[in-house]
Amino acid sequence: MSEAGKPSHVEELKIGSRQLRGTIAEELSAVADHFESDSVHLLKNHGLYQQDDRDERGQKADDGTSKGKAYQFMVRTRIPGGKVTAAQFLAELDLCDKYGNGTVRITSRQGFQLHGVVKSGLKATIRAINDSKLTTLAACGDVERNVMCCPAPIKNSPVRIQMQDMADRIAEHLKPKTTAYCEIWLTDENGEQQNVSEFKAVEEPIYGATYLPRKFKTAISLPEDNCVDIHSQDLGFLAIVEQGQIVGYNVLVGGGQGVTPSVKKTFPAAAKPLTFVTPDQVVAVAEAIVKVQRDNGNRSDRKIARMKYLIANWGIPAFKAKVEEYFGRSLPEPKPIEVTGVDDHLGWHEQGDGNWFLGVNVENGRIKDEGDLRIKSGLRAILSKYGMNTRLTPLQSLILCDIKPEQRADINQILKQHGIKQADELSFLRRYSIACPAWPTCGLSITESERALPGILDVMEVELAKFGLTKEVISVHMTGCPNGCARPYSPDIGLVGRRQGEQYMLYLGGNAIGTRIGFLYADYLPKEEIISTLSPLFAYFKVERQPGETFGDFCHRQGKENLEAYATSYCAQV
Ligand code: SF4
Repeated sequence: MSEAGKPSHVEELKIGSRQLRGTIAEELSAVADHFESDSVHLLKNHGLYQQDDRDERGQKADDGTSKGKAYQFMVRTRIPGGKVTAAQFLAELDLCDKYGNGTVRITSRQGFQLHGVVKSGLKATIRAINDSKLTTLAACGDVERNVMCCPAPIKNSPVRIQMQDMADRIAEHLKPKTTAYCEIWLTDENGEQQNVSEFKAVEEPIYGATYLPRKFKTAISLPEDNCVDIHSQDLGFLAIVEQGQIVGYNVLVGGGQGVTPSVKKTFPAAAKPLTFVTPDQVVAVAEAIVKVQRDNGNRSDRKIARMKYLIANWGIPAFKAKVEEYFGRSLPEPKPIEVTGVDDHLGWHEQGDGNWFLGVNVENGRIKDEGDLRIKSGLRAILSKYGMNTRLTPLQSLILCDIKPEQRADINQILKQHGIKQADELSFLRRYSIACPAWPTCGLSITESERALPGILDVMEVELAKFGLTKEVISVHMTGCPNGCARPYSPDIGLVGRRQGEQYMLYLGGNAIGTRIGFLYADYLPKEEIISTLSPLFAYFKVERQPGETFGDFCHRQGKENLEAYATSYCAQV
């Protein structure tokens, strides 16, 4: 049943890399401002993307001052469940000022990203992140990525505590064992902690010599609060709670958002239920599933290397039989339970131990100071003063935890002084919307995303107000290319960069709880026509929705043809 074929170039690189070393160390000490392409692939496993600031590149060329690419790096930190201490948060803020572009980005997988780090600053940046007891190892690459988990710090129920603990256990178990990361990045500036040239392999019991065929994403969720978007993951654990205790998890497999539109065999997929496991079986079943993908995923064509394609080829029964073989015993059917809700965790909430937590929206995850909105300074002030733990959310925002009742007024005041709006000052549209970075730093971006979405939402809010729909939870996810880093195929409205000149694919019919893939409603849609395309559909939703129906559910029920027909007649009348 294996997906055999000539190994892709990246596979050959991994095999010959001596457990992800390649020539990274040698190139790191060379004067060049960038790594060669083979190392660029391996660097991802160390949490690094080599990028090129295309704004800066263009500007330099126009000025005639410089030519060529403006190389810089994105440094991603892997943080299971998004749990970050104040000291770690402050360290990341310091690093963005010292080595990056002055901003920190909260990712849609509950991690941090620094952008704009130049090659000469990489080692110091990574060492400082490790000094704060976080790591960039396996934040990207063909391994288990950051394990996501509902971040709500609720203390008077064991449920979320057990979920967070499980996220830590899965992450620890599935992290690569290679010592390459330590050798390359954590040696001191003058001496060598280990001699890189004297390579001694360590055992990689899960990944072997070639790691995984492709990235692998895992999340833990609750049916009533699917804030981690469990159906978009390769592997999901949906907690089943009885009498206040987690009795087990439904295992979901085969989700994934990336697509190559010109390659018809690629598609986005929602994860499907596979089985039910008890808490003590979770780690072993996760390992079995990872190994099935390791040994059977496609290693000749990276476009179809994610586990969703293996499952599509085999079908769930054959996939399950193989997992049982690796696990060593048969597995039961999944429990009849579905995702029913989502919570962005913004605003003030009692956390169950006499203290409070506060979810703070960070638009598109970008922590920066710009004009009157000084998120970076505001967070620095609060974290320096109170030193509370924090959590990063899957909607690119953050939670300040463990706040004493008497601290609330002061924290409100600090937020206000820095222009940071609280949840009740924001529309649900904005709270449930996310975007990937795209231009200018992501090398794969075709269009704008992060820089375009706020303006689009400004106009969309006005349009929704016209129809009395401002209280609706409508999720908008936007990306600058079809790779789908901000999960654009499953929200109410998905915008996917399609062609330079700001043209997008418009997906409709998903939902904020992320239970299904939407459908392509419009292709090559110019940015300036997004709102005029959606407006008739908002009008239709207003008059024809069923009680309690969301915009995404309405579009799903109507289907593309009905929506188009209504839009055509509506536009003819106005
Ligand atoms: Fe880059 Fe595309 Fe991912 Fe956006 S979706 S960050 S443009 S690869």
